[in-house]
Amino acid sequence: MIHLDHVTKQYHGFTAVQDLEFRAAAGEIIGIIGHNGAGKSTTLKMIAGLIAPTTGTVYINGRDIQKHGVALKRQIGYLPEESPLYENMSARQYLMFFSELYNMPRAHARRRIDELLTSLQLQNPEKLIGEYSKGMKRKVAIARALLHDPLLLILDEPNSGLDPLTSFFIIQYLKSLRHSEKTILLSAHNLFHVESVCDRVAILKNGRLLVFDTMEAIRANLGKREFQIAFRANETLTYARRDDNYLYHTHEIDDLTAMLEKISARGWTLVDLAAQESALEEIYVKLMTNPND
Ligand code: ATP
Repeated sequence: MIHLDHVTKQYHGFTAVQDLEFRAAAGEIIGIIGHNGAGKSTTLKMIAGLIAPTTGTVYINGRDIQKHGVALKRQIGYLPEESPLYENMSARQYLMFFSELYNMPRAHARRRIDELLTSLQLQNPEKLIGEYSKGMKRKVAIARALLHDPLLLILDEPNSGLDPLTSFFIIQYLKSLRHSEKTILLSAHNLFHVESVCDRVAILKNGRLLVFDTMEAIRANLGKREFQIAFRANETLTYARRDDNYLYHTHEIDDLTAMLEKISARGWTLVDLAAQESALEEIYVKLMTNPND
């Protein structure tokens, strides 16, 4: 669906994005994360065809977005980081207005707008957008990006400025789109959200792609997994204790297996076994503070 073929973007000689190479398939949700100024918005704008790479090519379904922009843009929904809306229109009027720009037949547009208003829980669609809260405005902007049912959805910080419940709702909504074969690219600073919704994550640092992989692989390669066992024994042992239990910690699956065998062989009683994995945030902080990257 998407192929960034060695894409670099320079602004007046300053390299904002350097030699990005990645692919995303239909049905995938890809998270792009990185510090302020890492190049996330620049990358998303190039994929949306709004700015041209200085070198390299962005292919959407095998076609260069710069050469086939008009045709390809019909398949793209783009939510900018900041999305000014027409404040003196109601949400419904605003979406109808955009449906006309997309040449959507009126009856179809009405149905689609109703569907989006309902699924995004956009209440009071007849109210002027200028009277909406920030979260409601963001939902209108998301509805606009989805209006023409694009195959590729590019969302630049969709949750910026939203309260936790609305953010959670938007993330759940994006998850529900996974089955529609859309490719979704989103940038976000809330790594918990990225972790919960994205199939693969791209980590940018100073315009370069440090990591692009599934959460599972990122955790396995860059994170830590810790196992903790609590057990009881009718004898005095040198393990750490909490209340009546002895505690055992390890990062190694082989040590865990050996300890479980030992507990069984000695007739001790297993009370609890827990595994904890590094959160994306922990891995991200480690990467960002590594001076070698
Ligand atoms: P944030 O998390 O703060 O939104 P970002 O990762 O989206 O940051 P970009 O907006 O892509 O980062 O910016 C990457 C770099 O390119 C920054 O150093 C920024 O100052 C610079 N930059 C972005 N747009 C322009 C522009 N139009 N002209 C000059 N420099 C720009």
